Amino acid sequence: MPVYVLIPPKQGEERLKCFLAPPGHQGAGKYSVAGVREIPAVADKIELFHYDYGLMMAKLGYAVLCPDCRGFGERREAALQGEEESEFLNSTCFHLSHMAEPLGMTVIGMCTWDLMRLIDYVKERGEWDEESIGCVGFSGGGMQTLWLSALDDRIKTVIISGYLYGYSDSLLKLNGNCSCNYVPHLWEHVDMGDIGALLAPRRLMVQSARGDHLNGYRGMENVSEQLEVIKKAYGLFEKEEEIYHDIWDGGHCFHGENLEKFLSGDAEIK
Ligand SMILES: [Zn+2]
Repeated sequence: MPVYVLIPPKQGEERLKCFLAPPGHQGAGKYSVAGVREIPAVADKIELFHYDYGLMMAKLGYAVLCPDCRGFGERREAALQGEEESEFLNSTCFHLSHMAEPLGMTVIGMCTWDLMRLIDYVKERGEWDEESIGCVGFSGGGMQTLWLSALDDRIKTVIISGYLYGYSDSLLKLNGNCSCNYVPHLWEHVDMGDIGALLAPRRLMVQSARGDHLNGYRGMENVSEQLEVIKKAYGLFEKEEEIYHDIWDGGHCFHGENLEKFLSGDAEIK
């Protein structure tokens, strides 16, 4: 798995804290997250989605690992390995998913497994504060952050942007989403809030945009219902204040404006 590792200058004697930053779609994988603006097509996507959240975190003093997840960047399947912009920016989730599902596997399952191995790498490297590893992701990167953090409690701080809503409206009625979102039979048993409940009581930022079309036809209502499920789980630990719902106007886009406030522990629940 090719990974950009962004290491800011160390301030003082304390070991750097560290974040994993998996990518979302249409940004050429790790290139947009790490802020590789030298590639014009990547620079355009960074402008559009504020996609360089890996670089933002490094500027805040964190060591940040920006991987290519399966089907993205250097890990595209043969069908889209060309250098044309449309191929380079795209991902091959569709092809992977068509091979995975008949074998009883899913793309998100494989991506989550890869990220667990990336945590192993952080531990093995032994250079950063291993007790405070976080994960940040926007859109498809938010999806990976949700699943990884739910299934691996070595992640202590979670930032999910543009990916927290009810499955029925956002992934069944809106059925044009990328195939990596889909886990067979999942929604018969749980909704996204139930997966998010597994994050309790760890520090969590959820970013939502009021105009994000991926929220589905009921908009923010489809988001807040799932947030309520997550809040109930945090309530069991009396830790509701660890959730920060960062709500913005506008469309599907990452927002770095409140990251520092959230990470310093100042942010209160909205
Ligand atoms: Zn995908």
